[in-house]
Amino acid sequence: MKTYNNNPIQGGQFLIRETTAEDIFIPEEFSEEQRMMAQACQDFIDMEIMPFAEEIDSMKDPDLVPRILRKAGEMGLLGISVPEQYGGLGMSFNTSMLIADIIGSAGSFSTTYGAHTGIGTLPILYYGTEEQKEKYLPKLTTAEWAACYCLTEPDAGSDANSGKAKAVLSPDGRHYLLNGQKMWITNAGFADVMIVFAKIDEDKNLSAFIVERSFGGITMNEEEKKMGIKGSSTRQVFFNECPVPVENLLSERGNGFKIAVNILNVGRVKLGAGVLGGCRRVINLSLQYAKERKQFGVPIATFGAIQSKLAEMAIKTFASESLCYRAGQDIEDRIASLVAEGLEENQAKLKGMEQFAIECAIAKVHGSEVLDYVVDQGVQVFGGMGYSADVPMERAYRDARISRIYEGTNEINRMLMVGMLLKRALKGELNIYEPAMGVAKELTAVPSFESIDSTQLFANEKEVLRNLKKVFLMIAGKSAQTFQDKIEEEQEIMMNLAEIMIEIYAAESTILRAEKLAQKQGEDSTKYPIAMAKVYLFEAAEKISSSAKEAIAALVTGDEQKMMLMGLKRFTKIDLVNTKSLRREIASYMLEKEKYPFFI
Ligand SMILES: Cc1cc2nc3c(=O)[nH]c(=O)nc-3n(C[C@H](O)[C@H](O)[C@H](O)COP(=O)(O)OP(=O)(O)OC[C@H]3O[C@@H](n4cnc5c(N)ncnc54)[C@H](O)[C@@H]3O)c2cc1C
Repeated sequence: MKTYNNNPIQGGQFLIRETTAEDIFIPEEFSEEQRMMAQACQDFIDMEIMPFAEEIDSMKDPDLVPRILRKAGEMGLLGISVPEQYGGLGMSFNTSMLIADIIGSAGSFSTTYGAHTGIGTLPILYYGTEEQKEKYLPKLTTAEWAACYCLTEPDAGSDANSGKAKAVLSPDGRHYLLNGQKMWITNAGFADVMIVFAKIDEDKNLSAFIVERSFGGITMNEEEKKMGIKGSSTRQVFFNECPVPVENLLSERGNGFKIAVNILNVGRVKLGAGVLGGCRRVINLSLQYAKERKQFGVPIATFGAIQSKLAEMAIKTFASESLCYRAGQDIEDRIASLVAEGLEENQAKLKGMEQFAIECAIAKVHGSEVLDYVVDQGVQVFGGMGYSADVPMERAYRDARISRIYEGTNEINRMLMVGMLLKRALKGELNIYEPAMGVAKELTAVPSFESIDSTQLFANEKEVLRNLKKVFLMIAGKSAQTFQDKIEEEQEIMMNLAEIMIEIYAAESTILRAEKLAQKQGEDSTKYPIAMAKVYLFEAAEKISSSAKEAIAALVTGDEQKMMLMGLKRFTKIDLVNTKSLRREIASYMLEKEKYPFFI
């Protein structure tokens, strides 16, 4: 297991430590077995889903999606994370990320899949009793039963713990009688098993229940008419004196909110992976179209403006891949070390994920925003045809938008990542204050310029990264000092801090991936990943500078402001990168390969 000062790597620690290329996992390191699994999954999508994309979206045949789900079950795709004793494949965490990634290219089916295998199945796997696991998991891994997750209510969305759904014990003490209304429930139209959150009596906190549709007292509205992912079922569900046997309480009374939060942690990092397949598909379609479509007598792929878009779509996707699988492996390693220390496996999984909750939120936000960028540019490459419902780009554009909303909106996730970091710092679990004070001192000291051995690959870029981390520490330190426990009321500054965190994690992961690739296959064969890492860092430094300026303007005035701005200038200093020529090189390479050529 990887350690830092002989301690396991901690979530959020990337901001205060230097990570080496050896410390991170890169997708190119997936084993032959994992690649075969990914290929089988891709074949399944190409044969069983994409040819029926329109039919799926039309929802004319209500059994079409459940049938596809059952076929996915036959292939083992529904039990990737489920232990073999319950009918699953019991594969590693990062393998489940890889499969979520590949399924991500399957449009609305990826939402169906995510709801069934993630938020629908995992609460039982992680929190269920042995009897509950034996009863439900084997049926869920084959999709004999489909699952959904009922947390959101009309008046309880982001504020999920404020739901009004109620459960009271029946007079004979054998059932909880469930009443309430749930909204936006994915898979509701055909789900047999529902994870439902409700408060028992006048409890302050939610409890969670495993509810079978066959229990009775359940009705639902028609399918929601949505902007995208039209082939995924989304309904309002009503519980009216629904009798839930007492043995179907999941975990303990009042533990529901904790379950919801922990399961959403998993959902987030999986969604971070789940957008990647979609990004690559859109890039591939755009490359193909750009080569075929002629204007002014030449393919539009020959135009610099188009090449720049194609390259930028790939650069951002490469960055998202890099950070996602780095986080996935850190989680997997932490789980393994907790198990080795004697913790029960599911407890270890939850604790491992909780430890990297900051990175899970980063993966979700970065991935969903990259996907939106990629589909938007994809439409632009297609021009008028991008606006036509007869080509797949229009659907991809609409389908992408949901990712910034569910699994916690991106605003909530941004606040979460900063809030969590500051809380850990306050509890003394993550020492950011000492380095922050060091940076504050550096602001008033005469700058010393250490010479850098620039013959080493990325020597200059790593110095830039070190300095960008100082930007975060400078702003975070000043914000914490100024607002103390009221910082959560300063949402705009929280957003600025989140932006800086995200860009540091993404840029660092991208650079380390390219460095590791260069170590493995030589710099000459890593020309394009190196170029992508350079462009990404250059752009990240710009974004970080802009977010930091906004925060400084809101935080301080007068001489202190001048001093911080001078520090910012020093810490965001980066040699000019010829992004134009690097993007052209990257685009030409992709056009030659006729696909996004940088994944496993
Ligand atoms: C297609 C689809 C499928 C879904 N599937 C499921 C499912 O299977 N199960 C389930 O339980 N739910 C599901 N959801 C619900 C989804 O998780 C919620 O829509 C989401 O959590 C946001 O809640 P809301 O819609 O009530 O928005 P609101 O919470 O009302 O948010 C509206 C806006 O205000 C912002 N906001 C809210 N609170 C704050 C705050 N404190 N500070 C700053 N900004 C804030 C939000 O970021 C957002 O921009 C689904 C939703 C959709 C659209």
